[in-house]
Amino acid sequence: MNYYVMTLFPEMIEQGLHTSVIGRAIGKGILSLHCENIRDYTKEKHGHVDDYPYGGGAGMVMQAQPVYDCYQNICEKIGETGTGKPRVIYLTPQGKTFDQTMSRELAQEENLVFLCGHYEGIDERVLEMIVTDYVSIGDYVLTGGELPAMVMIDSISRNIPGVLNNDISAETESFSDGLLEYPQYTRPEEFMGQRVPDVLLSGHHANIERWRRNQSILRTYERRPDLFEEAVYDKKDMKFIREELGIQRVKHYIEKK
Ligand code: SAM
Repeated sequence: MNYYVMTLFPEMIEQGLHTSVIGRAIGKGILSLHCENIRDYTKEKHGHVDDYPYGGGAGMVMQAQPVYDCYQNICEKIGETGTGKPRVIYLTPQGKTFDQTMSRELAQEENLVFLCGHYEGIDERVLEMIVTDYVSIGDYVLTGGELPAMVMIDSISRNIPGVLNNDISAETESFSDGLLEYPQYTRPEEFMGQRVPDVLLSGHHANIERWRRNQSILRTYERRPDLFEEAVYDKKDMKFIREELGIQRVKHYIEKK
């Protein structure tokens, strides 16, 4: 996967993503990260990239020209590798909300371009020309698109083979099967009088798996009833749901998963 980020603050992205798991994957060449400073493309002699909004109102708006030229440069770079026009994601509170399904879908792409806005946003005309996806990371307003781009890149990368040391962990994580992940414990066996659940020390794999699945169900029911309602349950799940939660029927049921 090759990430291209169009931003006024490339150092923010570079610093944020060259650490830990994502930094290692970049080091290994599984991912590549190219940050383009939109300011480098302005034709304005003082280096400005923003101006007052037509019609008045608060704040400044990023101009179309530097954004468009920056985009053209990225297209040329990608063209060199023969993959054609890329998907361009504009980070905006007005977009579709990012989630695990979108993250997995975007992980299938070979190249992804992220466009980070600042100030009051970007001139609508260039957005209409280059953007393929409008994406928000939640219903709140941030100062710029850099943090959302980093959030998305981090999450998408976890779905790319080889990025996580243990690919199984992406399969059992929260949202992977519509439920939240079960609670995790590590050494010591006892901490401030609290013991690790006995079943996890038993070495009985089937029992551990069942306990984890039940905990996932319970946790999702308590914390995310919206996800609990949409998940798919089997016969063993239903036994637990009836006994523990007193719920007799669920929306999606299959005899055996
Ligand atoms: N005036 C814009 C509006 O009301 O829709 C908000 C502009 S915001 C202050 C500046 C930039 O931050 C946006 O162009 C966008 O790139 C980014 N941004 C802010 N909140 C975001 C969110 N929830 N998700 C994704 N990007 C966001």
